[in-house]
Amino acid sequence: MLMMKERRPVFRTIEGWARSILIEAGAIRECEEHGWMADRADPHARERALVAARRDPPSDASAEKAVAAVRDVLDTIGDTCPECPAESD
Ligand SMILES: [Zn+2]
Repeated sequence: MLMMKERRPVFRTIEGWARSILIEAGAIRECEEHGWMADRADPHARERALVAARRDPPSDASAEKAVAAVRDVLDTIGDTCPECPAESD
């Protein structure tokens, strides 16, 4: 009998970790309807996320790598949810 291997969506990647830091800082938000991440275009929230990344990087990454990952995630996220109509909030 074969055992099913369980796959857990924990933060196995630094990208997942960076995304959680950005959400906590309020720099990005998740669209409740579609699940896409959207950049809130808040420079203070971005700064908070970068400070947090530098101060408290994942155990297997340097502060530089953590900051770079947060910047990378910011680069890949648009200002709005791609599926939401542009007019509505
Ligand atoms: Zn949406």
